[in-house]
Amino acid sequence: MTASDARPGMLVQAEREAVTAALLQATGHLAQGQDAEAILRPFCEALVAASSHIRLAWMWLGTPDTTIIRPTYAVGPAREYAQALVLGADQATRPLSPGLRALATGRPVMATVRSDPAFAPWRDEALRHGLEVTASFPFGEAGDGKQGVVAVYADEADYFARLGWGPFVAFQHLAQVALTQAALRERLNIIATFDSLTGLLNRGAMQDALERVHGEARRRHETYGVLLLDIDRFKLINDGYGHGVGDAVIRGMARILEGSLRPGDRAGRWGGEEFLCLLPGADQATATAIAERLRADIMHHPFVASGGRIMYATASLGVACFPADGGSVQALLNHADMGLYEAKRDGRNRVARASDRGRSLFATAQQLEAALTSGRVRPAYQPIVALSDGRIMAKEALARIVTAQGVLEAEHFIEAADRFQWLHRLDHDMICQVIEHCAAVRKAQGMPTAYFVNVSTDLLHHAERVQDLLERITRTTMPCCTDADTEKPLVIEITEGQFLGDFDAVRRTLAPFLSFGIRLALDDFGNGYSSIRYLTELPFAFVKLDKTLVNRVQTVQGRRILRGLQDLARDLGFRTIAEGVEDEACADALAALGVDWAQGHYFASPRFEDAPEALGKSPDDAAS
Ligand code: GH3
Ligand code: MG
Ligand code: MG
Repeated sequence: MTASDARPGMLVQAEREAVTAALLQATGHLAQGQDAEAILRPFCEALVAASSHIRLAWMWLGTPDTTIIRPTYAVGPAREYAQALVLGADQATRPLSPGLRALATGRPVMATVRSDPAFAPWRDEALRHGLEVTASFPFGEAGDGKQGVVAVYADEADYFARLGWGPFVAFQHLAQVALTQAALRERLNIIATFDSLTGLLNRGAMQDALERVHGEARRRHETYGVLLLDIDRFKLINDGYGHGVGDAVIRGMARILEGSLRPGDRAGRWGGEEFLCLLPGADQATATAIAERLRADIMHHPFVASGGRIMYATASLGVACFPADGGSVQALLNHADMGLYEAKRDGRNRVARASDRGRSLFATAQQLEAALTSGRVRPAYQPIVALSDGRIMAKEALARIVTAQGVLEAEHFIEAADRFQWLHRLDHDMICQVIEHCAAVRKAQGMPTAYFVNVSTDLLHHAERVQDLLERITRTTMPCCTDADTEKPLVIEITEGQFLGDFDAVRRTLAPFLSFGIRLALDDFGNGYSSIRYLTELPFAFVKLDKTLVNRVQTVQGRRILRGLQDLARDLGFRTIAEGVEDEACADALAALGVDWAQGHYFASPRFEDAPEALGKSPDDAAS
């Protein structure tokens, strides 16, 4: 029975319902398609399955500049016809095929085989396959910058005219929605996977790849290597040649990595000008050799800067190998990071594996980071007493890390904090706690004794932290101070051994603190450069004599130096504080010289003043 049999109205109605039902049923498959191919194939299959009058459906996917269409997939009893089909368009001499017309107009195009001029070369073949009419459906946005066409053929010239476009166009719309969604998914996936500047895997994707390689290596008891690469002095490239050239260098590095790595190795952009390479199966020697090769390839690669000038760049690399350098992905990354740090420190354009000393500092810096983040860095307070009568005049706040195993003293983590530039965070965290403590003591006991806090050059270089402290001190959390109090109970210690740099800048930074009534102490005097310049450049109220000097008070020479300093301090109007006093004899000798105040285990050890019960320790246990 055909659509043109007797009682045509009813039969057409039945055909339309059958086609509609079949197409509707097929829509589920469209939604599941992950890409254009996987959406348009079921589209073709559903059309052919919907009615025996539909003898062929084929599809094509390609770029918008296409002038030739060759079906990439065909289904139906007449699919042989599609296999030979090549629809080209020389618009000047030949009419456009219906498929190309549909693409050009973005609308479905219907054409009858017997009358459409574009069918001239194919007409006999089409009729031999029982094809009388075709409908071509265009698809825009098919992902990957592609577009597509699906052509459907029926065995009666008026098939589509009598059935109506409705069901087909509705089905086409649904397929287009599925295509657009798949394209969107694909784009999101690309954005989520690849770095847009270099086309390399981005950090997230690289992390995934790392986890996979790690899992494999563990299962199979194999080794693998990671390289962390950072371009040397990249800021100079950016500043000297502009960010455009900087970007080009980053892209160039990506190409060098891709060209230089072995098949199976992977490179990804780890951050700004940092790359991570993943070397499955590599042992330490291989990983180091690959790193050296990369370093050399980079060093000899000519980059084109502005005006066609040639410039060269170098990179430093940190190497780590599983399992020798770490049993977890994070441990390996840390190890590579530490190696990179050492490569930079030792002059750049180098490959390095982290040294034991470096690893331990790195571990300590991590411990400090974790402690700062979880609020486990706490001040312990050591009294500073008057040597004349033993009265407590002030206290110095000393940083401690509280762990489940006990308390770490500052000497264990200051070097790591300095190396990894955490001092500003440490100082800021400590001073905030001291300010609050000061306010609490004031509330409970009246005017508190002065608290000495340590301020590093690193903190002074972090203007936003300095500003925050100033605000806390002058307004928010230091209600213990009124404008009427000229001397505030906070003294800033600056270590003489640290390179302060530009005194004018330091003076400007400190000026608001000083005008608020915060005083300054020069710390560790006698241990560093003992530079008299410091004393003349900044308005110190206190000079703290370093314990190495203090402990020589029993020697003739030591005593002479200390007496000289004491006289100088008195003349200049500084109060002196001896550090590290451990016995009575020392204390007596210092008192005899006229040293004003002192601190040390002989008088009192540092103690937590507010109970750290939240941390599960009693203050005395914790601090001792
Ligand atoms: P070092 O030898 O210690 O690595 O010195 P460096 O100058 O390379 O050090 P640093 O890591 O401090 O500077 C990296 C600079 O890279 C800072 C940042 O502005 C720049 N940068 C990060 N991402 C991009 C980027 O995508 N394009 C460009 N042009 N610059 C970037
Ligand atoms: Mg760099
Ligand atoms: Mg960097």
